[in-house]
Amino acid sequence: MPWNKQQKKEILDSYWASSVAYCPDDNARLDIQKDKALGHKTDLFFIRCPRCQQTFNSDEIEPEPQEIDEFTNQEKKEIVDTYFATKTGICPRDGVTLKIEHDEHTGGWFIHVRCPRCGRVFQWTNKDDEKSGKKH
Ligand SMILES: [Zn+2]
Ligand SMILES: [Zn+2]
Repeated sequence: MPWNKQQKKEILDSYWASSVAYCPDDNARLDIQKDKALGHKTDLFFIRCPRCQQTFNSDEIEPEPQEIDEFTNQEKKEIVDTYFATKTGICPRDGVTLKIEHDEHTGGWFIHVRCPRCGRVFQWTNKDDEKSGKKH
């Protein structure tokens, strides 16, 4: 049976949650390759079952959003708080592990956060910490 839209969505949900996904028809572990397309806000994947040989591209199911509302300041602050406490972060919108880059330089630091699924990005520095500290 060709995979339907719901099955494809479940494959992507499984992959985002645990980095593995299985064929709904024959239970084979799917081959999932990151598409090297440049300039996309979200990560794209090519999914293939080595057993029944069905394939699809993730953007069939999750097209790249044209406009993305930003994380709220509260969300950003919580992501940064969590990052400093645990060295990891979860997107509050879709539960996916965030890609976080952290740089330190003389007199400060800089964090770049990107969600590979919804494409939201932001940057946060020690200056933002000072700003948000003043509000409280
Ligand atoms: Zn299969
Ligand atoms: Zn997200």
